[in-house]
Parts: sequence; structure tokens; C-alpha cells
Amino acid sequence: MENFIVSARKYRPSTFDTVVGQGSITATLKNAIKNKQLAQAYLFCGPRGVGKTTCARIFAKTINCLNLTPELEACNECESCKAFNENRSYNIHELDAASNNSVDDIRQLIDKVRIPPQIGKYSIYIVDEVHMLSTAAFNAFLKTLEEPPAHAKFILATTEKHKILPTILSRCQIFDFNRMKVENIVGHLQNLAKKEGIDADPNGLNVIAQKADGGMRDALSFFDQIVSFSGKKFTYQDVINNLNVLDYEYYFRLVDYFKAGDVVNSLLIFNEILNKGFDAHHFVTGLSQHLRDIMVCRDAATVQLLEVGADIKDRYKKQAQESTLPFLYTALNITNRCDLDYRDSKNKRLLVELMLMQLCNIGGKIVSQNAVSQNIAQPQIQAVQPQGQPAQPVQQPQQSVQTVQTQTATQPAAQHVSTTVSQPVSAPAAQTAAAQPGQISIKDLMLRQKQQAAAKQQQLNEEKAAQTPVQSNECQDFTPEQVELLWKKLAEIYKTKKPRLHAIFASSVPKIKENYVLEMSLQNSLQIDTINEVKTGFVGYVRKELHNSKIEIVTKVDENASSSNMIYTDVDKFNFLNSQNNNLGVLKTELNLDFI
Ligand SMILES: [Zn+2]
Repeated sequence: MENFIVSARKYRPSTFDTVVGQGSITATLKNAIKNKQLAQAYLFCGPRGVGKTTCARIFAKTINCLNLTPELEACNECESCKAFNENRSYNIHELDAASNNSVDDIRQLIDKVRIPPQIGKYSIYIVDEVHMLSTAAFNAFLKTLEEPPAHAKFILATTEKHKILPTILSRCQIFDFNRMKVENIVGHLQNLAKKEGIDADPNGLNVIAQKADGGMRDALSFFDQIVSFSGKKFTYQDVINNLNVLDYEYYFRLVDYFKAGDVVNSLLIFNEILNKGFDAHHFVTGLSQHLRDIMVCRDAATVQLLEVGADIKDRYKKQAQESTLPFLYTALNITNRCDLDYRDSKNKRLLVELMLMQLCNIGGKIVSQNAVSQNIAQPQIQAVQPQGQPAQPVQQPQQSVQTVQTQTATQPAAQHVSTTVSQPVSAPAAQTAAAQPGQISIKDLMLRQKQQAAAKQQQLNEEKAAQTPVQSNECQDFTPEQVELLWKKLAEIYKTKKPRLHAIFASSVPKIKENYVLEMSLQNSLQIDTINEVKTGFVGYVRKELHNSKIEIVTKVDENASSSNMIYTDVDKFNFLNSQNNNLGVLKTELNLDFI
């Protein structure tokens, strides 16, 4: 059986020219060789698998080559080059500081430094993961690094530059290796596939490169993994299955569903993804990435930030043209919030499903016959106007029953689609909701459901009231019991929406005076103000309920009201406390505080 050599080793570059994606670094190194301006120590920084050690080895080989080519590359033929290529050169010493980070390890290295090389001019000492050295080892190393013999060259490599002591940094020439671009990795893999006679789907190679996240070594090992599974030919689907990568296809379909408000299919796709064993959080971040990719496709200037294959790029562009910016902003906001909340969530699946529902509702057009959406959807609440009367009494509670739709700027507010998140909320809350489209937490949703239930009850009460229109000339007599009953009803109507009105109606049943005047004895002027604000409205309601169009309602402060049964508003409470300790008033003024 043929000996299998992993591609990362088999195709390790042996000259500067074959190093992928680090052009400026190899050019600088070659220039230094050309001008014979070699530094004593180099620091190679950058993520894993981008060619730091490879470049260090090529550099070591090249400066020792006895017969440099005109392009300043190692000849690969002289005795020194052969020794390097066969891994038997004595001119190169590698120390992995991740596992050899003690003072003793460094001392052994320092001892070797004194001995000059047998063949070639230089001894090269490569210390990998140099940030892992212990402080004592660092200090022991420092002296040698400061005054090394002329034949010794140091190449320190690290993935974490910020952990290197300034004293080391100042003694090294520093090279920053970049993450490799997806297109570079794909190009390299394509060459490799050609040499190996492998028919590789370019879209599949793209997925490999993306999964490798800028590291060539990882990309090569993924490549090997897929080749060993699929043989001489592999497709996009093979790569997806093998690397456990979520297919782009899902995301494309999902975005289409979001735009159509199709909750059912969105939830089904999510279920399918979970069934395939994918992590839900992985799905959320992937969806965010997809939305981001669509976003960068909207502008010719940012298209270059999209690192996908040509075929898929066209699909992204198409979806970008079909998506509005407000939709994308809102969608990104929603997925990002879900990403942030994910870790703390007790019911992660529900969290993601809720995110999907919100995404479907961005346009405010969840398909209303959806079985799923019906659970949370409520019919829009219609304002019930009593006929022939000023609408105020019933309207007062209704003013807070405004319907708000979460929507993007592209969806005109006038659209009356029955929607999941059309909620009765109080006016200030409505403004908040409108200001932050699509931002709904589970807590909000529960609160809204409660409000909806209350609003429904209220609507029923009002509808009942509206069924018996008052005749303008009606003038029936009524009893104190009827009045008391009506006041209880009013108190009930205001119970959830206007606690202050509720308290008043519950506590002060009016006396019947002459000429159908109802006199309410209230406990303070504040209560009178509260009633006056809504009085014009609810008079009509009372007239209708008691079938008497001549009813008038008057209010007065009850002189006998003892302070013990005063209803304390926030202002009352504050005034009372302030009378006990007037520092409170000072505090309020100084801090510019106000009542909510
Ligand atoms: Zn050579």
C-alpha cells in the first residue's frame, strides 16, 4: 500500500515563491538576503497555519544555500539544501516552546548557540509559540538574544504577539502574517487537486477554505479528509456532509421565507437542521453571517468583502437586490440579539424559534392562516364608536388600545394586515415599539398577551354597551342601585388600564340630585382633575347605560374626607414625605428629578 503523506507536508512550499498569500513578507525577506542585511532575530506573528514556520524554514535554507539562484531562491541541489530537504541539516534547531518552556530547555538551546555550523554560514534557531516561555526562561533567553554570535540567527514565532515582552519585541525585526484570503486558499487547493488528479468542485473548495478560517494547514487537512472519503472526485455536497457545514441553501431559502412571512416553513427548516445534528447556536451565527453577506452585496464597494465562490456570489447578489436595507438591518439586529441571549436562555430552541417568528414578521405580514402564528396572533381590535354620542366615554379606555405593527420603513403604516405582533399597547409603549422595530423579547410577548386578554375583555364590555344606543330624547328614571352598579362596571372597565380612575369609580358612587344630576364627592382636587379629563366622554356612556339623555355629572371635594382615606398619588406621597423632611424637595430639585 502506498505511503500516505498528508498534503500539508507533501505540498509544503520549499521556496519563497511557492508560499501562498504572504507575498509582502517573502519579498522583504528576499530583499534582506539580497542586500545582505540580515537581522539577528526575527519575530513572526500571526494566526495558526498561515505559514510562519514554513517561511522560517525556507529562510533558514536560503541563507545557507551554497548556490543561490538569480531569483534569490535556494537551489535545492547543493549539499546544504539537500540536508535541509531531507530533514537532516545541523544548521536548523527547532524548539516548541509550548511543550519546552522551562529555563533548562532554554539553557540547552543557548549552549548549542555557541557552536558554529559545519556546513553553510548560519545556524538558525526557531522557537515556536515563544509566548509560552516561562518568565525565567524569557530572562535566560534575553541575554543571548542581545549579543548572539554572528553565525546565530533567531526566528521566534507566535500566535499571540501581545504576550511577548517589550524587551524581546525591541530586539526583533517583526513580521505580521495575515490570515489567508479564501481565494488564495482555493487557488492553492485547485493546484493541488490538479497535481493529484482530483476532480474537485470549486464551490466545495470554497467551503473548505471558509471553514479553515484563513489557515492553510487546516484547509489542507480538510482537503485530505474529504479526498480519503470521496476518492478522486468530490462535490459541494460531499464537502458539506463531511465537514458538517450547514448548506448555504438553507439560509437562502430561509431569507425568502422571512420576506414572505412564512413562519411554518421557517420553523420546519430549523427543525430539519436540528435533526441533522447541527448546533442551534451555530445556526444562529451562520444566519447572521448570511445576512451580513447579503448586506455587503448591496454595494459594489463592499462586494469584495464577500468570500464565496462565483456561482454562490451571484445568488447572494440576487438575494441582495431583492432585500431592502431596512429589512436587512432589522434582521441582523434580531439575529444578533438572539446570539447574545443564547447562552443565558433556559429554552434555547424556543429562543431561536421566536427569533424566526420575529424575522418572518419584519414586514408585518405573517401569513394569518398559519396554524403556528395563530397561537400568538390576535385579531386587530376595532374601535367601537357609540352612535349618536360623543365617543369619549368608551374611547377613553380605547385610546390605549392602539394597534401597533412592527414594521420596516418600506411597509407603510397604513397597511392593515392582521399580524402576529399587532398589539394593544398604551401610547408611550406604542412609540417605543415603533422606534425599535422587531425587537421583541419573550417577556414582551408575555406582557403583550396579557394586555391583549385585558383589551379583549374591555372590548366585550364596550361592545355590550354599544348595543343599546341611547335615544336623544330618552329620559328614564333610575335608582341609586342602578347607579351603583354602573359605577362598579366603570371601575371594572378601567381596572387594568387606568388604576387611578378605577380607584375613583370604585370608591365614590355619586348621589342622585334633582334634574338627573349625579354628584360625585371626591377626596381632593387631584381626583377632580382626573375625572374632568375624561368626563365629557363618560357622561355619554352613563346617559346611554341609564337610558337618560339629561344626566349631568358634577364633582366636588368632600369636605369631610379624612386624611386617612385619601388616595395617595405619587405626588401626594412625595408632598407628604417632603413635609416630614424637606431635604427631599432639595434633592428633587438638585437632581432634577420628576415623577414618572
Ligand atoms: Zn542550495
